[in-house]
Amino acid sequence: MRATRAILHIDNFRENILAARKRAGPHPKICVPVKADAYGHGAVAMSRYALEAGAEYLAVADACEGAELRSAGIAAPVLLFSQALPEELPDIVLKELIPMVSDGEFVEEAARAAELAKKRLVVHLKVDTGMGRLGCRPQDAPELAAKILGYKWLSLGGVATHLSVSDSLEPGDIAYTKGQLHQFREAVDSIRKAGIEPGIVHAANSGALALHEDSFFDMVRPGIFLYGYSPNQERLPAQPVMELRSAVAFIKKARKGEAISYGRTWIAPEDTFIATIPAGYADGIPRPLSNNFSIRIRGRAYPVAGRICMDQCMVNLGPATEVERWDEATIFGPGFTTAAGIAEQLNTIPYDILCRISKRVPRVYVGQGI
Ligand SMILES: *Cc1c(COP(=O)(O)O)cnc(C)c1O
Repeated sequence: MRATRAILHIDNFRENILAARKRAGPHPKICVPVKADAYGHGAVAMSRYALEAGAEYLAVADACEGAELRSAGIAAPVLLFSQALPEELPDIVLKELIPMVSDGEFVEEAARAAELAKKRLVVHLKVDTGMGRLGCRPQDAPELAAKILGYKWLSLGGVATHLSVSDSLEPGDIAYTKGQLHQFREAVDSIRKAGIEPGIVHAANSGALALHEDSFFDMVRPGIFLYGYSPNQERLPAQPVMELRSAVAFIKKARKGEAISYGRTWIAPEDTFIATIPAGYADGIPRPLSNNFSIRIRGRAYPVAGRICMDQCMVNLGPATEVERWDEATIFGPGFTTAAGIAEQLNTIPYDILCRISKRVPRVYVGQGI
């Protein structure tokens, strides 16, 4: 196997699921978002571990991601978070994926596809309460729910909304989230008042799981939290699941004044040992970390020397070193710099760092019973 691997600590993932369960209480189901290849962790494997750990639902962005799970033999309910395309509907019906619907036009197309296949299609109604992405207006929810019920081959499996600032403790943001939840409750109530059973009511992402107890309803859908990055580590701690690991592939002595890597941006300030690590931006290490990051070898952090290349990078081991060729090298992971630390440095979010870990990096699952 290649030196650069993503090690997935499944015991941490299981503990995060348990923590979510404990926080949400015994009633709400847990839906595990495995979109974007499970935030870079590997969708099929993470889905299996999630279901084994008691999760009831999975969610992906689109029908292609859903089909990958079905091809792997995963039979659990799978929600589609993004707006599905009309041409994807036959496959969605066949594979029993659950689209979210925001409008009457798409409900009609979904009904047509289900009718054609003579197969029942479950949909969830999406209500926009302030995210501004997908969903119907709250006041239109009962009419849309009634429309769904009007079709023989459609059923309403749930009603959902999405929160845009649920991870923020800023008072204005807390008020905004409360407002979103209030509008959502009203929309669900109005569906019930119209004599329609809304099915599974769900709203909570990771931020809401950590900070808004009144958002749990019948199901929670925390993503980043389950992968080990809590929006509020004090209130609801999580343990990082992914470790990005490589190895020292080569060591050489650079003389004072010699240049390392493209662009000659790093010049040896003294005679020093340089290690070459076979991991670069094509593996998902952000190139802006050039000259501005450390890699851990034998428990010590060594600074990156020069630009990060496509497939390799170099670190400065100093004038005397105990590091040996083929030693392990950790780029990020639990107990060291995490994806959150890197994200902060680059003014982005841990999701972005995790999703970048590319396809050529093998995923290796470790944990009890694996
Ligand atoms: C991605 C996503 C989630 C999970 O969000 P996190 O911030 O990772 O918890 C939940 N719901 C929807 C609709 C999403 O798109």
